[in-house]
Amino acid sequence: LSEELRALTHAPCISPDGHEIQLYVNTGLLAEVELAVDSGCAGVGLHRTEFPFLMGDRFPSESEQMALYQDVLSAFAPLPVTLRTLDVGGDKPLPYFPMHDENPFLGWRGLRMTLDHPEIFLTQIKAMLRASVGLNNLRIMFPMVSRLEEAEQAAALVARARTELDEDGVETAAPLVGALIEVPAAVYQAESLAKRFDFLSVGSNDLAQYLLAVDRNNAQVASLYDERHPAVLRAVNEVAAVGKRLGKPVTICGSMAGEPGLAVLLMAMGFEGLSLNSGRLLRVKWALRTIPLQTAQSVLAQALEAEYPEQVSALITQMLDTHG
Ligand code: PEP
Ligand code: MG
Repeated sequence: LSEELRALTHAPCISPDGHEIQLYVNTGLLAEVELAVDSGCAGVGLHRTEFPFLMGDRFPSESEQMALYQDVLSAFAPLPVTLRTLDVGGDKPLPYFPMHDENPFLGWRGLRMTLDHPEIFLTQIKAMLRASVGLNNLRIMFPMVSRLEEAEQAAALVARARTELDEDGVETAAPLVGALIEVPAAVYQAESLAKRFDFLSVGSNDLAQYLLAVDRNNAQVASLYDERHPAVLRAVNEVAAVGKRLGKPVTICGSMAGEPGLAVLLMAMGFEGLSLNSGRLLRVKWALRTIPLQTAQSVLAQALEAEYPEQVSALITQMLDTHG
């Protein structure tokens, strides 16, 4: 990284015309936490909790999970840390738990699986809540929400976890809870979901995969996976618009948030924050501090009219060349 970029580590993320956006980091492995702690981020926008579940030969216990979550929460406190509940299934089966899906990406994954097993869900939520005692920077986020009933069930289980902890003499603060918008159905219910949650976050990796019907891990079709596809841009823009309309914070945590040119368009859409791998943070911050919001908004307006991904790419390249 150049000196020029490194010097931005503690600079605020504000466009030349004064628009501020928060840059959060995505974490999962402890090594990612350590790398991100001094990155100048505004907190953790997505902590993927599945790694300890995937690496062991059984479900980690409540106290094992609590210790892991405490490490992350305390590393960033007082900044917010968003812990995502278990998102296994799909491309991430558990070796010690039967999951036999003919078509795993349309199958038993994410919140669907944990709502079917409240004991798994409650153990994890209690571990998160316990870990947050005295820190109060916990946010909880649910993956793969596709129905409002799931939102209601998940919220009820969080309330139950708090009651059970309270009965054990552990007093916890109510965490902010949010939903990932990563299934196309959730885009069209974003308004109803926004009313039921404290925040939303677009999971553009899965959203693009499901919108385009492209499995990124399948080499035969991987080249069709494109975050610049006009359908993806328009869907992501819809969710941001709902956030603005309802005054609810909406962030985005898929990998498109880590692409400087796309990040500028996401700023123009009105996202409250972007969550990205810490290694991308400075390049993205540089772009957001360089391109005026007004310019970004006019490029976005053209990008939303584009018919081909290449047109979006050309608009982005032109914008970065003119201002960079
Ligand atoms: C996403 O789907 O965009 C996301 C952030 O989650 P994951 O990549 O872990 O599925
Ligand atoms: Mg996802």
